[in-house]
Amino acid sequence: MVKDIGLGVKPPRRECDDPNCPFHGNLRVRGMVLEGVVVSDRMDKTVIVEREYYRYDRKYERWERRRSRIPAHNPPCIDAREGDKVRIAECRPLSKTKSFVVVEVLERAQ
Ligand SMILES: [Zn+2]
Repeated sequence: MVKDIGLGVKPPRRECDDPNCPFHGNLRVRGMVLEGVVVSDRMDKTVIVEREYYRYDRKYERWERRRSRIPAHNPPCIDAREGDKVRIAECRPLSKTKSFVVVEVLERAQ
């Protein structure tokens, strides 16, 4: 019983009983879908995803590199680890700082 979360991502092979899992629980995803790299997996079922993007500085006519870190929920069936490239989707706030969930691991770290 894997739910279709409406993003066209391939569902995880394993199953889990996490109520905050978009595939096996009751969590709905809506809003932004982003990609990034896991820079910390030391919390319980939470990872920090770092994203790098470029912003144009009009005064200096240069592109500047910016990065942001987004806490995201990491369901046991996905189990993203540090160094993995992941896709995250926005969901309802799960805690004070967490309102994204990992929906797919794009590239596993070696
Ligand atoms: Zn799951």
